[in-house]
Amino acid sequence: MLVHTINEVRECIKKWKKEGLTVGLVPTMGALHNGHLSLIKKSVEKCDKTVVSVFVNPIQFCPGEDLDKYPRTLEADEKLCQNAGVDIVFAPSPKEMYGEGHILSNDFLTYVVPPFFYVDKLCGKSRVGHFDGVCTVVNKLFNIVQPDYAFFGQKDAQQLIIIKKMVKDLNIPVEIIPCPIVREESGLALSSRNKYLSETDKKEALALSKILFNIKACYDKGIKDVDALSETAYGFLNEHHSLEYLEFRDKENLEQKTLADDNTQVFIALRIGSVRLIDNILLG
Ligand code: AMP
Repeated sequence: MLVHTINEVRECIKKWKKEGLTVGLVPTMGALHNGHLSLIKKSVEKCDKTVVSVFVNPIQFCPGEDLDKYPRTLEADEKLCQNAGVDIVFAPSPKEMYGEGHILSNDFLTYVVPPFFYVDKLCGKSRVGHFDGVCTVVNKLFNIVQPDYAFFGQKDAQQLIIIKKMVKDLNIPVEIIPCPIVREESGLALSSRNKYLSETDKKEALALSKILFNIKACYDKGIKDVDALSETAYGFLNEHHSLEYLEFRDKENLEQKTLADDNTQVFIALRIGSVRLIDNILLG
C-alpha cells in the first residue's frame, strides 16, 4: 500500500501494535535496486510487517549537490516493494515531513546532531551537515513508524555507525540490523547514483572495488602497515579518477589505524567526473 501522509502510517502502526505484530523499517531514498531489495527481504523475513520509506530527504543534501536530479522512480519502487511483500511504502512530500515553508535551516527546524568525532571525517568532511540531515530524518521516521527493527546497508558504513551511535546515545527502542553490501558481478557496489554513470564511467568505477579487494588480499597475505596498503591503490587510479579519501578506521568508533587488524574497515570515496561514489570493506 502506497501512503503519503504521516497520519495514515500512524493509523496502521497503531492497529498492528494492538495486534502484537512486529514492525520492520527500511529507510530509503528510492530508485530501488537489488541492494535495497536485500534489506527489504531481510525485513519481510524477520518482521510481521514491513514499512519501506521512499523519501529524497532535502536536508541531507549540501548546496550544489544532486538533490534536484536525484533519480525518482516511485511507480517502479512501489511495484518492487509489492512483489517483495512490503506492507506500506511511505512516500511523504518534503512538506509532509518538514511542514510549510519546509526547510531548511536549523534556525527553524529541530535537528539531531551526531557527535563531531564521527562527522569530521570521511564523507562528513566534504558533506558538511549531511549526517545532521540523515540523523534528523531517521529519527523522525523512527518516531512515525516506531519499528522494532530497522535495516541499514553496510554500503553506507559511516552512516550505519552514526545511526547505531544515535540509537545508543538517545535510547531509541529499535534494533539496528546491518546488511552486507550487494555488488554487481563486476564488483561495483550497487547504488542509485550508478544511474549517473555512462558505460565508460562504469568501467572507471570498478577502481573502487578493485582497490578494496586488492587491499584485503594484501592484508590477508600479511601486510598490516596502512601506508604500504594505501600505496597499492595507486596502480588502479588514472586521470579519470579523483580520489577524495582512502582511509583505514576502526569499524565501531572510526578511530584511525596505522596498523591494520581484523577490526579495520577501509573506506574509499572517488570522483569520476561529477559523480561521487563510495565503497568500503572490512578486513577481518
Ligand atoms: P539510499 O536509498 O541510498 O539512501 O539507501 C537506503 C539504504 O539501502 C541504506 O541503508 C543503504 O546503505 C542501503 N544500500 C544502498 N545500496 C546498497 C548496496 N549496494 N548493498 C546494501 N545496501 C545498500
